[in-house]
Amino acid sequence: MLLDPRTLLFSLILTNSLMVLSLFVAASLKGREQGLNKWALAVLLETFTWLLIAGRGVIPDEFSVVLANLFKAASFAMFLAAVYEFQRRDFALWKFFVPVVLQVAVSGLLIDDIAGRFVWGGVIYVFQMVLIVHALLSDSETRMGRAWRLLYGGSIMILVVLAMRAVAALSGMVDFAQPQNHIAMHWVQVVTFISVMATALLGSVGFILMIKERTDREIMHLAMTDSLTGVPNRRALMDQAALVLAQRSGRPMSLLMIDVDHFKRINDTYGHPAGDEVLRQATALMAQRLRGGDVLGRYGGEEFCVIAPDTDTPGALILAEALREIIAITPLQTEAGEVTVTVSIGIACCSAEAGRELKRMLAEADAALYQAKQAGRNCVRLSSTCRRERAEHAPQLVV
Ligand code: GH3
Ligand code: MG
Ligand code: MG
Repeated sequence: MLLDPRTLLFSLILTNSLMVLSLFVAASLKGREQGLNKWALAVLLETFTWLLIAGRGVIPDEFSVVLANLFKAASFAMFLAAVYEFQRRDFALWKFFVPVVLQVAVSGLLIDDIAGRFVWGGVIYVFQMVLIVHALLSDSETRMGRAWRLLYGGSIMILVVLAMRAVAALSGMVDFAQPQNHIAMHWVQVVTFISVMATALLGSVGFILMIKERTDREIMHLAMTDSLTGVPNRRALMDQAALVLAQRSGRPMSLLMIDVDHFKRINDTYGHPAGDEVLRQATALMAQRLRGGDVLGRYGGEEFCVIAPDTDTPGALILAEALREIIAITPLQTEAGEVTVTVSIGIACCSAEAGRELKRMLAEADAALYQAKQAGRNCVRLSSTCRRERAEHAPQLVV
């Protein structure tokens, strides 16, 4: 296959330019604060590098070597800055400037020594790639998705190419660095061009996907979270309960329905904002009392639900009593003054052996809650099924 270096350089410059355009458009739509502008700028700097390299032999070496290396190092530094901006992390400015300054110094001092430039310049580029890889790997939120792997793969590919170029230069193969001198391309050049093209494409698509993945996660979080209290909303709670029921396999589970007593009066006496504050603080108090696997969610209005996996009836009674007590004894601070509230709790249980539908458990907990209200509020009641199962499993008196 006869590959003309100038044609390849031209297509590299063309695809990079189109990519820059698309990236800036994408950044203006969304993602400006997520590093996309910086990423686009990095690809633009890379495009300038290739333009200068295309002019090698025609324009002075100061431009095609020193300035080209300046743009390339600045481009890698800008990729790093984009990754950090995406991660909403600060980073030391030396990581940006020192490699750029060193790269200019190396390419300026070794302007007539291609092998030296490839080795020492390569070392600096390798350092820059390592910084990018480290930034990707050291952020757990970045690694939650999958798209970062495209950036990671691209960085590794560039590292391999840099190593290959340094080895080729050290073994005296330096003619591949002069694209305008050859009609047939040197294999080192072919590999370099293909890797650079692939990395620009993979990296840019990967970066946009990283932003998309995070936006999806944030939307999902909003859709599943109650905005007032910050705990799972009814939809998330029901999903979680169905999951716990399905995965129970031979273990008990309990469901607590919790309702704030006379909450309408709180609103009427202290005002709606104070009522909101009461709901927020009561939620925080209950959340702090739960075990790791328990899930507290807002079922609606002033009603909450706790899903307690691996919890049998006695355990659920202890938990419900603890929640009732902590709410009853803790004065809540609102802008309208100190408020004390109580809660009533209904419990539905699913013993280890029994199979039960979520709908049925919710209805049972609701009925038990109603009984707690009827009994004067600020108390806990078990559902009739819980009571029956408890009686059946109680030790029998043998006469
Ligand atoms: P009970 O002891 O029988 O449960 O009486 P209650 O007053 O708590 O029950 P009721 O269902 O009559 O009233 C619930 C009140 O909760 C009415 C509603 O305005 C209020 N509420 C529901 N959601 C919110 C909210 O997000 N913020 C505030 N401040 N109030 C809310
Ligand atoms: Mg109520
Ligand atoms: Mg209610």
